Amino acid sequence: MKKAIRVLQFIWLLPATFLLWFFYVLPLMFIGAIRLIGYPEFLIAEFSVDKNKSPDWYYKLWVGWSGYGGPCFFISNPSVEPDYNARVKRHELEHCYQQFRLGVFFYLYYVLAYLWLLAFTKKHPYIDNPLEVAARKAAGQSVTVSRSEWIDNNGKRILWRK
Ligand SMILES: [Zn+2]
Repeated sequence: MKKAIRVLQFIWLLPATFLLWFFYVLPLMFIGAIRLIGYPEFLIAEFSVDKNKSPDWYYKLWVGWSGYGGPCFFISNPSVEPDYNARVKRHELEHCYQQFRLGVFFYLYYVLAYLWLLAFTKKHPYIDNPLEVAARKAAGQSVTVSRSEWIDNNGKRILWRK
């Protein structure tokens, strides 16, 4: 039954999966920037960034980031401590579940929540995004992050990681 539901969710999410796999995942695999680790769950592929084979321009994009959860896949950067990496993987897996549930509306919801938080609140558009809060909760990471914990990465991007 669980598998049948996921197949339906897979079809529901297919437009996003097609785009991301065709223009992001497969080209990165092709150039060796990411490596397939396995399939932790039905219809979810796990990748890790390959520091040695990845071109500089791609690896640099990972500065300050530990994971990325997309449609039917997630990528993590293994160059962090194992406990932290395990939480990151769980966090990204939650983003996979969110995408299965919301389909292509995941991206619309994410962007609208981001813009809303940015324009109308004093909250952080990324940290306080409901989809990020839910993913941190699922991963056992800190759910509430105070302003003093927001890290300013050279003024470019405000990051938070724990
Ligand atoms: Zn996240």
